Amino acid sequence: MFTKIKQIIDEGNRFLITTHIDPDGDAIGSAFSLYWALDALNKRPLVYLKDPIPYKYEFLPIPPNFTRELPTDRYDGIFVLDCGNLFRVGPGHEQLKEMGPLVNIDHHTTNETFGLINMIDARACSTAEILCALYESLDITLSLDMAINIYTAILTDTGSFRFENTNSNAFIICDKMVRAGVKPEYVSRMVYNSHPKERFLLLGMVLATLTTYANDTIAMVHVTEDMFRKTTGTREMSDGFVELVKEIRGTEVAILLREIPTGYKVSMRSMGSIDVARICNLFGGGGHKNAAGCTIPGSLNEADKRVKEALGIS
Ligand code: AMP
Ligand code: MN
Ligand code: MN
Repeated sequence: MFTKIKQIIDEGNRFLITTHIDPDGDAIGSAFSLYWALDALNKRPLVYLKDPIPYKYEFLPIPPNFTRELPTDRYDGIFVLDCGNLFRVGPGHEQLKEMGPLVNIDHHTTNETFGLINMIDARACSTAEILCALYESLDITLSLDMAINIYTAILTDTGSFRFENTNSNAFIICDKMVRAGVKPEYVSRMVYNSHPKERFLLLGMVLATLTTYANDTIAMVHVTEDMFRKTTGTREMSDGFVELVKEIRGTEVAILLREIPTGYKVSMRSMGSIDVARICNLFGGGGHKNAAGCTIPGSLNEADKRVKEALGIS
């Protein structure tokens, strides 16, 4: 299953590992775990992230070979993890293809198979799940540095084992990680109980924008630059707001519109068979059936109108 990827790893030495902008736990945990796995094989990996590590993932064992400057060297393999499309790596992503063989490892249904090698499994709960199978096939001894990253990736991408992507592998792998020394209480505390006060000031403002449609089955909130300024909140502090709105009884689709310099970043979460990846795809975005995103250029009014049109609630 991993024959080509194994060959690239066996024959190479210098590897670049990257993931998507606005990185989540799966993005960070997958990238860092692969770093420690390649390090265990005495290879020379480098992790490149465009964005800073979000505060809630700062407790993870950060690779010593880590950069936020897009490298320009050649590599024996470039691992793009948890990215449905290459542009999600951020500016300069076009260069990556010229820097070495691109290995695309992902679990998004909308993956555009942009790699030389594409290892896509939409049934996997997380990219980390696919990587775990790769590590096993490479006979890599599991270290605590790998385990804590893998555990965090699966914990966060499954919404603490609450989302539909929660499969039996999620439990099997996490059980293994706990046996390897991961402390679930510690990880939960770091990830979920480490928010600065400003996040809650911001949340207050965001919740005041709550509007529901279609008999309260669709709930929408927004966050503007002005709210970030007033609360001195940062972008990462709005992570998780859309999941919170989905907790409203009867909500089938939850939407967060977040102002960005060019318009609005849309985050959608849904229940059951409602496919928000398909809706986000209409705007050039994508993701998973129940968790997807896209960007819409222009004003809040325009984003609001277009999202509602796409959902048939205009
Ligand atoms: P978010 O709402 O940003 O947390 O993203 C939800 C899911 O959709 C994640 O799996 C993302 O990787 C994916 N996603 C978010 N934004 C985009 C986009 N612009 N294009 C493709 N996938 C996206
Ligand atoms: Mn992700
Ligand atoms: Mn993921």
